[in-house]
Parts: sequence; C-alpha cells; structure tokens
Amino acid sequence: MPEYYVNKEAQANGDHEVHKAGCSYMPEKRNRKFLGTLPNCFDAVREAKKHYRQSNGCYYCSRECHTT
Ligand SMILES: [Zn+2]
Repeated sequence: MPEYYVNKEAQANGDHEVHKAGCSYMPEKRNRKFLGTLPNCFDAVREAKKHYRQSNGCYYCSRECHTT
C-alpha cells in the first residue's frame, strides 16, 4: 500500500492537497504531514480531513480523489 501525505500549507483556494509517496508535487518534508500507509486516496483524504477540513486529492497522483 502507498504512503500518503498532506500538505500542511493550503493552496490558494484553501485546499490541503493529499499526495501519494513519489508524486513530483510532494511538498518539502517540513511542509508535509504523514497520514499513513493506506489502501487508497479516499481513505487518505478522509484521514487528512481530521487535520484540515478542506483537504483534496492531488490532481496528478490522486486524480480519482481530486474534486474541483
Ligand atoms: Zn500528488
């Protein structure tokens, strides 16, 4: 299962992006929070929302969890 991270810094629209390990848009280490080793990005976004109400899947690595 992949490792997922959430960006501690919000995007311009307020979203905290959730990334899968290996994504080229992964934030720097100090700007990301480890969410866990999870079966899919839906679980990762749910976990991220415990920390940041406005969390969203990364368009590039977790497109099926990306909402606009
Ligand atoms: Zn990503």
